[in-house]
Amino acid sequence: MARSADIVIVGGGLAGASAAVMLGRADHDVVLIDPYDPPRPDFRCEKLDPSQVRLLRRMGLAGLVLPAATHNRELWVARLGRLADKLPVDQYGILYQTMVCAVRRGIPPQVRFLRGTVSGITLSENEQSVALANGEVVSARLVVLANGLNRALRGSLGIGCETISQNHSVTIGFDVIPAAGGRFAFDSLTYYGEHPRDRVAYLTLFRLGAVMRANLMTYREVDDAWLKAIREEPEVALMALMPKLAGLIGRFAIQGAVRVRPADLYVATNVEHPGLVLVGDAFATSCPAAGTGTNKVLSDVERLCSVHVPRWLSTPGMSASKLASFYADPEKRATDLHSSREAFALKARSLANGPFGLAAGHLRYLGRLAKGVARRGSARLHALSQQASRLSWRRGPARVQR
Ligand SMILES: Cc1cc2nc3c(=O)[nH]c(=O)nc-3n(C[C@H](O)[C@H](O)[C@H](O)COP(=O)(O)OP(=O)(O)OC[C@H]3O[C@@H](n4cnc5c(N)ncnc54)[C@H](O)[C@@H]3O)c2cc1C
Repeated sequence: MARSADIVIVGGGLAGASAAVMLGRADHDVVLIDPYDPPRPDFRCEKLDPSQVRLLRRMGLAGLVLPAATHNRELWVARLGRLADKLPVDQYGILYQTMVCAVRRGIPPQVRFLRGTVSGITLSENEQSVALANGEVVSARLVVLANGLNRALRGSLGIGCETISQNHSVTIGFDVIPAAGGRFAFDSLTYYGEHPRDRVAYLTLFRLGAVMRANLMTYREVDDAWLKAIREEPEVALMALMPKLAGLIGRFAIQGAVRVRPADLYVATNVEHPGLVLVGDAFATSCPAAGTGTNKVLSDVERLCSVHVPRWLSTPGMSASKLASFYADPEKRATDLHSSREAFALKARSLANGPFGLAAGHLRYLGRLAKGVARRGSARLHALSQQASRLSWRRGPARVQR
């Protein structure tokens, strides 16, 4: 069957689903295609930080996502195996599949969803043709390629892939419970690697529904014996890696499946084609440890849908040079650059094992301690000045009466 639309979005992950919400709300004629409805469970971003929540608000998506997430209000920070600070935060725990489902629920009804796999795309200056594996064809003025890590479709269009850093980091996800039952004393905890030789960036624990979720960010080769150990005997392997952790959070047990996910950093090449634009992981990946992937995905979609698509649709044709404005967008470029720099900077900091690296680790611990002392001091001063102004206000009217 042949259909037509102004825009076809290929892939309904975080990038494609948010684009469908934004473009649908702007009354564009959109078709979204994905093989899975509901989306498949996938081990991806499980925690949203304040910068990501701000982006969601800016895109009008926060009202969809945040009610499905668990609000974490206090963060403990531990460095060198010692608690350095307890600070207020605004973070949210949410499984990736839950987040994508929540965004998809906000797609306006006029956006047509096709459950299927795109098997081929033909591009031209004016009309694009998107073929599904089941034989259906959708024609459109613009194709938004948001199909994540799937390289085959990009390859068929002559789009290349430059690997920036193979197996840049390995993320490990699992649930933790207190061995003695009850609840942990904290909402969330960032526990940095105890020593650079451990090849750990940090462990983050955060409330996600009824469980305490853990994401451990490491730098290990895929055949590293410790990765085998964490799958087979997770508590033993984690306690060996972070011997001081139990002293801080209490004895713990690891529950359910342990997910181990290596991440390559790559960027798509030869992306300028008529009628086609790449967003999210389809354009470039990010390092999960740096925690910038969701910013990159959302920023791509926000710029595309609120700035570029309205301009492109308002003039005839979809030439490659016209669409290149998206890849040159200063905000997109700054976000991509920040994401890539953070990935390398965090790895270098985490693995710096010489005297300077070790000294820097101690300075970061002291810096965090000092920030905590300063914050608590200023909170106390603020409370005292509030109390003083309340007292003087009470005395004021009494003097007038006399
Ligand atoms: C282990 C891990 C942990 C992460 N942790 C964090 C974190 O803590 N913080 C953070 O900010 N970021 C994190 N990220 C990054 C972030 O989650 C992802 O980069 C981002 O969600 C990618 O979204 P996407 O929509 O581009 O791709 P995807 O979510 O992969 O979506 C692609 C979609 O395309 C569909 N598709 C594929 N092929 C086809 C086809 N031929 N036809 C139709 N549809 C197709 C798929 O079904 C899928 O729905 C993490 C990533 C990983 C891997």
